[in-house]
Amino acid sequence: MNWIERKILGFFVKTKGIFSAPLFGGKGIIFMLHRVLPENERNAFTLNKDLAITPEKLEEFILFFKQKGYVFISLDELADYLDEKIKFQQKFICLTFDDGYKDNLIVGLPVLKKHQVPATIYVTNCLPNGTAIMWWYLFENHVKSHSELILNSSKGRSVFQWENEPSAFSQFGKVSEAIKSIPGNELPVVLSQSFGLSVSEMEAHGEAISLSWEEIKELSNDPLITIGAHTMNHICLKQQLEELVVEEMKASKIEIEKYIGKEVVHFAYPFGGEVDVSKRELEIAAEVGYRTSTLNQAGSIFKSNKKSKQALARMPLGNRIDSERISNYINGIYHFSVNGFKKQKYQ
Ligand SMILES: [Zn+2]
Repeated sequence: MNWIERKILGFFVKTKGIFSAPLFGGKGIIFMLHRVLPENERNAFTLNKDLAITPEKLEEFILFFKQKGYVFISLDELADYLDEKIKFQQKFICLTFDDGYKDNLIVGLPVLKKHQVPATIYVTNCLPNGTAIMWWYLFENHVKSHSELILNSSKGRSVFQWENEPSAFSQFGKVSEAIKSIPGNELPVVLSQSFGLSVSEMEAHGEAISLSWEEIKELSNDPLITIGAHTMNHICLKQQLEELVVEEMKASKIEIEKYIGKEVVHFAYPFGGEVDVSKRELEIAAEVGYRTSTLNQAGSIFKSNKKSKQALARMPLGNRIDSERISNYINGIYHFSVNGFKKQKYQ
């Protein structure tokens, strides 16, 4: 952010978003969620805890936006809006849940049904296939009984050491970057050595909290639910060879379509940050046949996203997102503080 943008940000904050809202508030917001769990089932480690919203908080957000006059729409409706096939008088919200956790069906769906709110679940195929290695949870468990983590791959050797849990968790960002840089085909063996668990033990941990294909089919039969794709193995696409990127984005679509008997036209990039997605992936997403693809980057949805349907901004929603942050999502101050004048990504 340059000094002009910083000055303008100060003005936007001082005037409580009145001037930023028409410029940066946008027509709607896509929210990113993962799990829906009761408070007593949420994890201890903050970053993992934040992966789950409580059903009460989800309901509170739904009621808040409805009361503000927002309409909840599906990603098909969003795509139709961007293609100028339909119009909305009100501003809109799209809810999306990543990865394909079992609690989406058990805890999340009843809340969505109660308020007749549509949502998309982006399934990472390795979850229902029982081959997901959820290293973010394995790391949390590992920390409890170890004082180091060694990652040994063809990319080199990284050693992380800690004296207590807070110190371990403060290194999570670096651990995460190191794991994301490991080539996908080496990952199971590398993590097996790092965590001292067999590949099948790691997979069993993931399978227990993943949706099965039968449950995904059941969800897809619900008129409120859209099933989207999120790659086969939840790898950081930007760091992979093009051939593998195409395979991950194409095979996941085809396999989900086989199980649910419907076309899959919405995609979310794994991790979705600037370090995870490049222009190459946006082009591949369009070639593979996705109507929309979402990021994990600050921003609202504008009419002008017609030209960038493969790079839709999406922001997190969870128990720690307070009312001030929500106001700054709505009036665009939050995105302006991150992006400055740049409304659209990857241009
Ligand atoms: Zn994900």
